[in-house]
Amino acid sequence: MKLILLGAPGAGKGTQAEILSHKLGIPTISTGNILRAAIKNGTPVGLKAKSYVESGALVPDDVIIGIVAERLAEPDCKGGYILDGMPRTIPQAEALETAGVAIDCALSIEIADEVIVERMSGRRTCTNCGATYHVVSAPPKAEGVCDNCGSALTIRKDDAPETVKSRLEVYHRETEPLKAFYEARGKLKSVDNQPSIEATTAEIEKALGI
Ligand code: AMP
Repeated sequence: MKLILLGAPGAGKGTQAEILSHKLGIPTISTGNILRAAIKNGTPVGLKAKSYVESGALVPDDVIIGIVAERLAEPDCKGGYILDGMPRTIPQAEALETAGVAIDCALSIEIADEVIVERMSGRRTCTNCGATYHVVSAPPKAEGVCDNCGSALTIRKDDAPETVKSRLEVYHRETEPLKAFYEARGKLKSVDNQPSIEATTAEIEKALGI
């Protein structure tokens, strides 16, 4: 299964990608997590990406396409993968096609902007492994500590309310047109965000027939 998860920032792509990844036994490729790790480690990609990521702007397509091409060439991607947060622009989607990546499905998680703004204020992210939590709807077992790896949880700089608003604008302008792109190829499926993580997973599984 080669799956693309589409949806606004905060739609739950990362959370659902992790659940599907365990269920299907295929890796999740999250460009956001790759970029945040690169920034933390001060790599050349991280230095290029830092100002874009922290202000909620999109990192230039050539940087993203390079990262993803490298990651998809790793052996664990042979049996399929879930792309979380890529493509985010039409040129990125075209670059995947040019590279011969034939995806099975682009699944869009639909959610209203107002719900996102509220949701993002409670989001907490692991500084080490990138796992995400929510102070109310998906809290960690111990406050401020990642269940997976025991590292500290933080608020992402780009989850500040003003930055969330501009990320939503970027989403509607640059990323939402991908729905028509994949619809035209017969690959688009959409599900509505549900009140709980489990209910959204159930909708996704129904849509994918898994
Ligand atoms: P995310 O964790 O998916 O919300 O991504 C966080 C930030 O990383 C975004 O706001 C962008 O600055 C950057 N980013 C992640 N994926 C991409 C992408 N495919 N294209 C451009 N920028 C990206």
